[in-house]
Amino acid sequence: MLDTNVIELTLNGIGASPGICIGKAYLVDNEGVDVVRKYFIEKENLRHETKRFKAAVKKARDELKLIIKNSNEELLQQSYILETHVVMLKDKMLYGKTIDTIEDEGINAEWALKKVVSNLKSMFQNMSDPYLKERAADIVQVSDLVMEKLVGAEAFNIADICKRVILIAYDLSPAKASQIQLEKIKGFVTNCGGRSSHTGIIARTLEIPAVLGLDNATEIIKNDDIIIVDGTTGAVIVHPTEETLVKYEERKIKYEEYRAALARKSHLVAETTDGFQLPVMGNIELPEEVVSVIDHGGDGIGLYRTEFQYLNSSVFPSEEELFNKYLEVVEVITPKPVTIRTLDINGDNAIAQVSNYDEAYPALGLRAIRYCLQNPGVFKTQIRAILRVAAHGDVRILIPMISSYDEVCETKRILNEVADSLDKEGAVFNRDVAVGIMIEVPSAVTMADVLAENVDFFSIGTNDLIQYSLAIDRENSSVAYLYNPLHPAIIRSIKHVADMAHEKGIKVFMCGEMASDPIYMPILLGLGLDELSMNPQSIPAVKSMVRSLNMGEIKLFMQDVLKQTSATSVMKLVQDTYGSIIYNKIYHE
Ligand code: PEP
Ligand code: MG
Repeated sequence: MLDTNVIELTLNGIGASPGICIGKAYLVDNEGVDVVRKYFIEKENLRHETKRFKAAVKKARDELKLIIKNSNEELLQQSYILETHVVMLKDKMLYGKTIDTIEDEGINAEWALKKVVSNLKSMFQNMSDPYLKERAADIVQVSDLVMEKLVGAEAFNIADICKRVILIAYDLSPAKASQIQLEKIKGFVTNCGGRSSHTGIIARTLEIPAVLGLDNATEIIKNDDIIIVDGTTGAVIVHPTEETLVKYEERKIKYEEYRAALARKSHLVAETTDGFQLPVMGNIELPEEVVSVIDHGGDGIGLYRTEFQYLNSSVFPSEEELFNKYLEVVEVITPKPVTIRTLDINGDNAIAQVSNYDEAYPALGLRAIRYCLQNPGVFKTQIRAILRVAAHGDVRILIPMISSYDEVCETKRILNEVADSLDKEGAVFNRDVAVGIMIEVPSAVTMADVLAENVDFFSIGTNDLIQYSLAIDRENSSVAYLYNPLHPAIIRSIKHVADMAHEKGIKVFMCGEMASDPIYMPILLGLGLDELSMNPQSIPAVKSMVRSLNMGEIKLFMQDVLKQTSATSVMKLVQDTYGSIIYNKIYHE
């Protein structure tokens, strides 16, 4: 029964997993585990204190392992997140450092853990790569679990929920989210987290609507409140009126029909009505994600970000470790192609233990290819692993952050040197690998004609290209309103890059987030993109959009697009011309 004395309220957060759900709120109060005090431990009791810490870690570890063992089918492919947490529990940076802090400072385990975690958290949060930045959340979740065991807090168990509800939580750790029983939870809303947080990844894997990053959700929403969660737009409506409820019920049905239709057709080729075929590939960070690319109809891997293996370790991974991980990907995706991007990480933060750097502007600092060229040993190890794995499938190499011709020459010199030495050793490898570069720095756009003569393909990284071209820190929320892929400067840059690539006879791909939004398809096709790569979940909708378009019509439409002088007018033009294709299906009113 609706309460007519309350007023409808719309809250806006980050739509992290699309879809709509309507139901009663169920509040989960798990705002970290608060440690109230620091105290000193007598020298003779320090051993006992470290033992207490080790026992808490063991309990946390056992609990995680049990959750992994009992994971249901859908979550099995995400269990790597929990496996990562198991590894993190024993990581030197967390485990070893906490023990050192207890012993060196003579303090209690809770306070030592809190101190170590707070340092690690700020280290991760200062990283320029958003993916790595979000790993700060993993550190907090892992340490919260240990803290629970240390202070003997009663763990909240999602598996105990016995009615169909929408979860409202301060944050949801992957361990907690993994216990969700699909038939009990309709959706979730959290105060913390963003689209690429693990909670978001899990929500998308389970295909449960989720709105995250809604600062004060747990304060505003009360138990049993009727709420609507729209994970597509990021809206959460509390106390909806009868009229709003009817409207969203209809939207929900339309959305479900739309998803079902997309899924049925996700394995069809993305071909325009006049016969232009566009390969639509998936971006991955971990080998486990390949399955998701295949399930969503991906034509291959257009971007394999290789940073994760370097992050989770206090030493650089060996050639064999890298080779084995890459082989996992190649074996699953073959005969489709996989594009392995070489290390794109900041030298100062990558491997904290061996860092000598302290950079004021990491995004403009010693990152990606710059770091690799200054650390040829690290680079060569990775190249050796890639050339070896290239003997087992269709592998391409992608070099990030190229800003000059000299960097291309130096990179190719190293590639040749590595190939020569593999040859001498009689190793099984493939030296004829396509070598492409990311176009994500404005100087690479300007030099596209020269660069195109020296590489096999381009892949436009719009995430960074927009940040550097428009001078907008992609992490700074106060200038986020200026971060617009449809800015005419960005459209012109993409056009120049595509024209130069085609003039020199190479292909041009896109693997930045711009490639994942169906509304941009008419423009990307019109600009001449030969292939797109995106998060796997976006593949079906992008393919479907491409199949509704006509290249002949797009050519005419582009003449108008190129005359526009602002992002707003480009958006209006594309919405007016093509918006109905997408929105009619979902939100036709
Ligand atoms: C990009 O910059 O668009 C890109 C794909 O790379 P990353 O997001 O990893 O910087
Ligand atoms: Mg980039």
